[in-house]
Amino acid sequence: MKVELVNIGKKYEGRESFTIRNIDLVIESNQFCVILGPSGCGKSTLLRMIAGLNSITEGDLLFDGKRMNRVEPKDRDIAMVFQSYALYPHMTVYENMAFSLKMAKERKTLIHERVLEAAKTLQIEEYLYSKPSEISGGQRQRVALGRAMVRKPAVFLMDEPLSNLDAKLREHMRVELVRLHQALNTTSIYVTHDQTEAMTMADIIVLLDQGKVQQVGAPSEFYQEPANLFVAGFIGSPTMNNFNGRIENGLFRTENDLILVEPNEEDARKLKDYEGKEVCMGIRSERFNAGKAEKHGITVNIDVIEMLGKEQLLYCKFPDGQEVVISEPGHFEYGLNEDHNFNFDVDGLHFFDAETTMRI
Ligand code: ADP
Ligand code: MG
Repeated sequence: MKVELVNIGKKYEGRESFTIRNIDLVIESNQFCVILGPSGCGKSTLLRMIAGLNSITEGDLLFDGKRMNRVEPKDRDIAMVFQSYALYPHMTVYENMAFSLKMAKERKTLIHERVLEAAKTLQIEEYLYSKPSEISGGQRQRVALGRAMVRKPAVFLMDEPLSNLDAKLREHMRVELVRLHQALNTTSIYVTHDQTEAMTMADIIVLLDQGKVQQVGAPSEFYQEPANLFVAGFIGSPTMNNFNGRIENGLFRTENDLILVEPNEEDARKLKDYEGKEVCMGIRSERFNAGKAEKHGITVNIDVIEMLGKEQLLYCKFPDGQEVVISEPGHFEYGLNEDHNFNFDVDGLHFFDAETTMRI
């Protein structure tokens, strides 16, 4: 099912301002859409509007072109999985999964078929007759998914379903959820504050900040072409390095004169209108390479090294104290509190308007 949001807004009763504002979004049939953003930005509010658990203050919600604003949640053909799995503790896994179908007065044979099918997909057949208290957190999460799956909804809604799991299991479940999505072929809308989950799972990401859309697009677009400084800072780990400066005679010069850049042709064209103006230059940690360069190099002092195995993050300082994070292969050796030369790839630069924060 295709899900469309047309100029959607939400104002909670008793609140002065809108929590969600002017959201336009098209989620194509069977896409995996991730709504991403910092805590409190309005992700759950938006998802609950799609589910029908929150009223819609303004705009239209369309399922396959049909207006859903006033349709009851139970008639929307959706199923929702919450962060707290909210399983019934006194029921077995089987009963938990069968519950909604039983309430809908479905035939016993159909219920049985659906529960077994979901349990098989989720690999929880062994636990069907256990109580939630007798299984692990990861298994409980699967039961919560199974409970939603048995209804074969047209739209699958998930609100931070992995945030209660430990890191290793979360990583594993990310892949499982993508597999599940491929198997079910259902439109999925998934809420998270975790950019890694968004980058690894989404067909499209919607990044919100303070109730407003910052960017919509494929994960690679977010990484390669962040729409503004907020997106640039939110996506990617470590965070993109940013330098304030200005354009002088077509060159970018930092305030402290420590970096001087001749932008590549494409950037130079876009920066034509910025002559004499303040801009911000972003560069990701992996765009630096060890070695002295004649052009586009920096000399910095390494004060902390974070060894991650495959790579190491070098936390460095310029002579004036400005910080920069550089990532290098893990097998290279670096000494602390020493000056090192790095050059950088001029094709990996991002320029932003210092005033509007928008990408140039
Ligand atoms: P997120 O899921 O991104 O963390 P929420 O959608 O839960 O954000 O909340 C967004 C904002 O709306 C917060 O400021 C929150 O306090 C407010 N909010 C959430 N639910 C309600 C409610 N029922 N009544 C009033 N304000 C609410
Ligand atoms: Mg939330």
